[in-house]
Amino acid sequence: MNALTRPCLGLALSSELASQLEGHLPRTRVLENRSLSSAQEFMSARTQGGLVFIAVSTWKELAPDDRERLIAHKSWQFMLIADQHDPDALEYMSSGTFLTLMTCPLDRAKISRALQQAEEVSNMYDDIFHMAREISLERELLTRKNEQLAFLNQLLTRASQTLDPAVILANCSEDFAMLLDVGNVLGVFWAENEGQTEAELFLPGTLPHAQQAEWINHLLSVAARLGKQEVRGYQVSALELKDCKPGNPPELEELITLPLTLGSEPFGALVICSQDASKLGQDRLRILSSAANHLALAMRNGLEFRKTKARADHDGLTRISNRHHFDIRLREEMKRHQRHQDELSLMMIDLDYFKSINDTYGHQAGDMVLQEVGKILNNTLRESDFPARYGGEEFVVILPQTREDQAWILAERLRSQIGQTFFRSQKKRFRVTASIGIAGIKPCALTPPETLLRNADTALYQAKTNGRNMVCCSAIEETQAAH
Ligand code: GH3
Ligand code: MG
Ligand code: MG
Repeated sequence: MNALTRPCLGLALSSELASQLEGHLPRTRVLENRSLSSAQEFMSARTQGGLVFIAVSTWKELAPDDRERLIAHKSWQFMLIADQHDPDALEYMSSGTFLTLMTCPLDRAKISRALQQAEEVSNMYDDIFHMAREISLERELLTRKNEQLAFLNQLLTRASQTLDPAVILANCSEDFAMLLDVGNVLGVFWAENEGQTEAELFLPGTLPHAQQAEWINHLLSVAARLGKQEVRGYQVSALELKDCKPGNPPELEELITLPLTLGSEPFGALVICSQDASKLGQDRLRILSSAANHLALAMRNGLEFRKTKARADHDGLTRISNRHHFDIRLREEMKRHQRHQDELSLMMIDLDYFKSINDTYGHQAGDMVLQEVGKILNNTLRESDFPARYGGEEFVVILPQTREDQAWILAERLRSQIGQTFFRSQKKRFRVTASIGIAGIKPCALTPPETLLRNADTALYQAKTNGRNMVCCSAIEETQAAH
């Protein structure tokens, strides 16, 4: 709105001043000469300002409060008319309240100069107002950009601080909360294994059991869609999320699916439950895709590291843990045993006359037997037991929280399972037997690992010398020897 169309308000002008003004105002403008209270009302009722003409004599008479209330209408421009000689007029002008001082008698030139000045000032205000708005928009944009950068920075820093895939995912689900209203975060990763696509699914550990199956199906369908392969097998890993929401089945959630790619090939995806899913703007989509690139790299490193570590910990032939891994685990288990003061047993298994298997059926047949024995160990033992290949045709099993008599029962089961298995090589069937030595430690005993191993080895030697295909236990042998 320019000065020509804005209202002109006279504030309790004398009739003489009012008529001078009316006589010289452009024809498009009408002077509204009002009393103080009516002028106040008039100004308050309008959102946009205009011009106010006030005589020095009137201003002088106004109470400080009334003056304050008047000039509080910031969008109005005040013109002072010097209707009498008053030395204070200059002081009023220097206060900055008035745009201009017009001396009486008023004429067309003075009025049009004042209106022009008002218009220039008003245009300047408009410009400043627009600039201020632009600056505030820029600031808002910068604040948002800053938040996004902080999000990316935190995500990137934390993702590169660990190589544990489950920790990377749990951390990033916290970081996403800086950008989105996040519920649960789930992940699915797939890879080829012996010609088949296998998936690993990361689900919040606290997800209710009934929902877990639905989420598994959903994640498998994401893997099949993005990986363009049918998923043949999968395993589930628990995500420990700090602020885990109770969660809904997938069809009730709003989901953001972020594919994680290496080159152009997706190898996994994050599924984020978020109420913002349907209202993501370009900038948040861009930042999410940037986050996905960083995460893809961190996750890939984490998954590769885990694979390499698993390879380093496992025996290549039998796929069970190797001696190096066993040595570390035995020390850990013995420390735990001492802390919790429970029982612990160790089993040492040696295949009988294995050299003659190699000699009779060939080395490959021998390898096949070792693989099968590895499988028997995996299938027969409990989750908490720890089997390993100790070397050659010898295996060991750590049995936490197991007394020697319980270990004996388990060893007998293993011995008979191995002994009953028929192996095939070059159309010939043969069987293999095993000798097993057992040693245990009682709660509170401070036996070192080397002693436990030596005792199991001695019991195994006993089984061998007593005729093979049998189980011997160091404590029982001792007891028997004592009688
Ligand atoms: P014993 O009943 O006294 O244990 O007799 P054994 O023949 O089993 O024992 P010995 O220690 O004389 O021989 C062990 C054999 O196991 C010798 C070795 O060729 C074989 N062996 C060790 N590691 C492997 C392997 O990885 N693959 C195959 N095929 N044979 C192996
Ligand atoms: Mg041996
Ligand atoms: Mg042997």
